[in-house]
Amino acid sequence: MPLLMSDLDDTLVERPPLFEAWATEFLAAQGQSPDLLEWLTEEDHGGHRPREELYAAIAARWRIDVPVERFVREHDQAMSGSYRLTPEVRSTLVDLRGRGWRLAVVTNGPVFSQSLKVEATGLEALVDAVCISEEVGVAKPDPLIFRTAADRAGASLAGAWMVGDNLDADVGGAHGVGARTVWVKRDYDRLSYVGTTEPDLVAGSFPDAVRRLLAEA
Ligand SMILES: [Mg+2]
Repeated sequence: MPLLMSDLDDTLVERPPLFEAWATEFLAAQGQSPDLLEWLTEEDHGGHRPREELYAAIAARWRIDVPVERFVREHDQAMSGSYRLTPEVRSTLVDLRGRGWRLAVVTNGPVFSQSLKVEATGLEALVDAVCISEEVGVAKPDPLIFRTAADRAGASLAGAWMVGDNLDADVGGAHGVGARTVWVKRDYDRLSYVGTTEPDLVAGSFPDAVRRLLAEA
């Protein structure tokens, strides 16, 4: 049984339109101009910035009445709950399983937000295993999280593939356990990389990544 592991954020689901929707609603609820969307998007930094810092940036600009803990919780809930799979991503997963592939989602982040995303997307029913770094105890690129994913999916890392948008965590991490990789290169990528790992393949989206790896596998 071949194994395909995939990252979640900005691999299976693109985050920018979801942040834009949240930010638009948030600005309206705060009585602020929709013109601040661009500024807020910049402060968000693709979601890589701690939410407490996003809150501080907002609070420095206008008086915000909710305390930071509540802002972070409600923001996490709203963002995670808005995650959806596109029909193409969903059918790609269904098709892979139909071809006999084992599927595992390997995601870095807190159980609170990541499990909400898994629930909102319906991924649980489409894959064989889900590994969330906080629950596993280590994060990508640590080899243990990939080994755990393979174990839980009942598959071997020999001949396995990993698809992800983060060159260090996804590509570098998976190469560390001998898996081949497809880097989903997002034009809005805001990460800066420390590693020098070269992916085996480069794709523009998850379905594109799967098409390319199936041609190689
Ligand atoms: Mg990602």
